[in-house]
Amino acid sequence: MRYSPFLSCRQASRLITAELDRELTSIERIGLHLHLKICSVCPTVVRQLAVLRRSMQEWRETAEQ
Ligand SMILES: [Zn+2]
Repeated sequence: MRYSPFLSCRQASRLITAELDRELTSIERIGLHLHLKICSVCPTVVRQLAVLRRSMQEWRETAEQ
């Protein structure tokens, strides 16, 4: 795959979900950061995932009590 500093939405969404499982490399992080600055769709996905992750965490904490 040819390296480009600008990701497609497809590549960005792959990184967004990968970030849930593992640490991104600095190149991946910068690429994602740049993409989120120029894209109008992906920042919404990131926000929704953050909300989802937070409620999952809260649910897990409540379930463990
Ligand atoms: Zn995008």
